Amino acid sequence: MSNASASDSASRPAPAAIARKRRGGEATLSADSLEQTLADVRRKIYPRSVSGLYARWRIALVFLTQFLYYGLPWVNWNGRQAVLFDLGARKFYIFGMVLWPQDVIYLAVLLVISALALFLFTAVAGRLFCGYACPQTVYTEIFMWIERRIEGDRVARIRLDGDPWSVRKVRIKATKHAAWLLVAGWTGFTFIGYFAPMRELGSALAAFSLGPWQWFWMVFYAFCTWGNAGFLREQVCKYMCPYARFQSVMVDPNTWVVTYDQQRGDPRGGRSRKIDHHAQGLGDCVDCSLCVQVCPTGIDIRDGLQYMCIGCGACADACDAVMEKMQYPQGLIRYASERSVQDKLTPAQARRQLFRPRVLIYSALILVLVAIFLGSLATRTPLRIDVIRDRASLGREVAGGLIENVYRLQLINVSEGDMTLTLRAEGLPGLTVQNGGAIHLDPASNRLLPVVLQVPAQNLEPGPHTVHFRAQAQDADGRTIELEEKASFIVPR
Ligand code: SF4
Ligand code: SF4
Repeated sequence: MSNASASDSASRPAPAAIARKRRGGEATLSADSLEQTLADVRRKIYPRSVSGLYARWRIALVFLTQFLYYGLPWVNWNGRQAVLFDLGARKFYIFGMVLWPQDVIYLAVLLVISALALFLFTAVAGRLFCGYACPQTVYTEIFMWIERRIEGDRVARIRLDGDPWSVRKVRIKATKHAAWLLVAGWTGFTFIGYFAPMRELGSALAAFSLGPWQWFWMVFYAFCTWGNAGFLREQVCKYMCPYARFQSVMVDPNTWVVTYDQQRGDPRGGRSRKIDHHAQGLGDCVDCSLCVQVCPTGIDIRDGLQYMCIGCGACADACDAVMEKMQYPQGLIRYASERSVQDKLTPAQARRQLFRPRVLIYSALILVLVAIFLGSLATRTPLRIDVIRDRASLGREVAGGLIENVYRLQLINVSEGDMTLTLRAEGLPGLTVQNGGAIHLDPASNRLLPVVLQVPAQNLEPGPHTVHFRAQAQDADGRTIELEEKASFIVPR
């Protein structure tokens, strides 16, 4: 591809014919769009770098999310890794909390809260998550930063790609891929550090002695990062991400999305800064195409809201800089609702529209679920008992005129301290536990204990009887915990 053609195709806006636009809630696609879409998939995008308010927010969120992602596995808590999903032991450690498979309800509630939060943010401000916190955006941002440092800004990259292969080009491309692979490799290594102790993994990696599954997941995750952030980039947002497809049902005319103010901007056209453009019949848009050149998905926001728009605000930053140079008011492209632009609402009136029923309902549901989630975590008992009947022996007579039933008790200490407990049983006259005294449980441990219940046989009706196991435990802080669990005692005929 020649320089000129590369440049042209890179700066060319996505044709309006293939842009699926929301029209009365329906998506339309012209008849010849398939071929055009395929050409568009192959078209490489060279986003221009941009600075401004939204770029600063994006950079801040890249730092914040990556600081958490890369840093968390190295943080220790109570002498162990603070966040560790130990799949082998079926325990999730999250700071002072140890979650067991029985706690799957917490995970379910967390997922429901996350889904509702996504609905809420989308109803309020469209694809905020995509533009600022989605891993695809964040890693693409990091990889593009590396690319810009090594290959140069947009024009230099277009020129380099158009140049024939030479020693210089190989050197630049190899340097870029080496840097990308380093970041991708460290990202993959960090990923496995959430599932196995990070410090041990670090020593194992240094000695080149990771296990086969650890190698597999590290390389797989690194490969996905390299491929998605280095090559696929906007294709993931445009063609692979399901969220892009169903977001149109979550936004409405009151949702704040990145919007081109057509009434103010059109008719577009180049002009000198000194002329009175309104007198010439021109709008504020100088048709410089900078908003298209900075767009990571290569679309022209002036064609209206499109499902490919990730709401990153890069076009708004670029346009604000142009408006400043032209000494026009900023905000020709801005976060605004369709209704506020159409009805020319003041910022205060537009803000009031945010408090509409669906936003209030989502917010109320999230608040209730978060309160339930935190309340149940705070009142969680640190001891759990599950009674499992020994199916092999339903109940039998033993020496001394006694009836005996055998159970297996699963005792789980979910706290981070030692625990000692005693067991007794109630529900039948003379019922005794044969091995119920001073049972020790290690911190965050799970113990399967065979327990025998005996009762004198006289005056007992044959058949099942309800009995209760009562456990009394002392935790490491000396607090007493009492638990009761129901079971069935079988008296043979
Ligand atoms: S149109 Fe603007 S907000 Fe949407 S993806 Fe492109 S640059 Fe980002
Ligand atoms: S950056 Fe602003 S002025 Fe330039 S083409 Fe885009 S909307 Fe028009």
